[in-house]
Amino acid sequence: MSETYTQAELEAYLDEALAVDRMAALENSLRGDGELLRRLAAINSQRDCGVHSIGEIWRRSRLTCPTREQLGSYLLQVLLEEHSDYVRFHTETIGCRYCQANLDDLRQATAGSELEPEVGTRRRRYFQSSAGHLKPAHQR
Ligand SMILES: [Zn+2]
Repeated sequence: MSETYTQAELEAYLDEALAVDRMAALENSLRGDGELLRRLAAINSQRDCGVHSIGEIWRRSRLTCPTREQLGSYLLQVLLEEHSDYVRFHTETIGCRYCQANLDDLRQATAGSELEPEVGTRRRRYFQSSAGHLKPAHQR
């Protein structure tokens, strides 16, 4: 699963000059490979020209978007750390609007009553542990 990519391949990826199947494989690897992600981001940040930014490529093809399930787990903070890093990178650094919209949607669902049992437990625990620190509503 953990494939290795040369610097040249990563450069080619950013230039969209990589073979389609290799590109797809790389994007697939990016989902769970924080080190690969960092290498790619480092190359990208060293480039002066923003034309070939990762963000642009990723916004155009949503191949590397986390699944809705992963986004949900991210919100609940039950995602593996490396996956969590990826989602943060993807939505905040890359600024994928598609996933941001998805996250907003999921946040609203979580705020409503459609909570999974696990979420309810986590929220209760949060409220119990922080109840003493919360100001009464009228003071906010
Ligand atoms: Zn996305």
